[in-house]
Amino acid sequence: LFLKSLYAHGFKSFAEPTRLDFTSEMIGVVGPNGSGKSNITDAIRWALGEQSNKSLRGKSMDDIVFSGSANKQPLTKAKVTLTFSNARNNFSTIDDDIVEITRTFDKKKRESEFFINGEKAKLKEIQDIALETGLTKSSLAIISQGTISNFAEAKPEARRELFNEAAGVAKYKKRKQEALTKLIKTQENLDRVNDIVHQIE
Ligand code: ATP
Repeated sequence: LFLKSLYAHGFKSFAEPTRLDFTSEMIGVVGPNGSGKSNITDAIRWALGEQSNKSLRGKSMDDIVFSGSANKQPLTKAKVTLTFSNARNNFSTIDDDIVEITRTFDKKKRESEFFINGEKAKLKEIQDIALETGLTKSSLAIISQGTISNFAEAKPEARRELFNEAAGVAKYKKRKQEALTKLIKTQENLDRVNDIVHQIE
């Protein structure tokens, strides 16, 4: 399996250090409303560099730190570690067989730190790696509750965009647009060169 395990402590409802091992092809998570099921996918997206508080269902980054419950004191730090298998060289820039991505957040310092296999990393490096996991926001690998109703209520054009994205067409469309823009620029340059040639003749 690609994503082997998730460790979380201090992230949202993970008041205690918690490790989830994804040992089977299919895993079901059951629990009453509000028991923290969606917090698992939030933790995955957060560790992979999610910057939007809204998409993490909070108002500020502080909201991702465990804020206490009836019988537990609030915490000041959050930590999530994702362990990926790199046996199929999914991570083109990393040689190790296992890739561990960690994000920490300190409420007092108000900043996140990222680590790749224990080494401090920049957000940009995490975001590049996140693209290779296929788990990031635009990949539709994580479909949260709202996504389904948004899809059902979307206008046909918007729905088509989602289909394009799911089918992997979107990235080619983007590249086509970039190529067309380049083509127009090149034609303009060519016209200019022709003008100069005419002038000289
Ligand atoms: P549903 O089935 O209703 O969608 P769920 O099981 O997916 O629910 P989540 O939305 O993942 O539940 O979890 C929400 C719970 O997480 C709430 O009980 C909320 O109090 C708790 N929670 C979220 N952020 C924090 C935080 N910073 N500190 C403590 N608890 C938090």
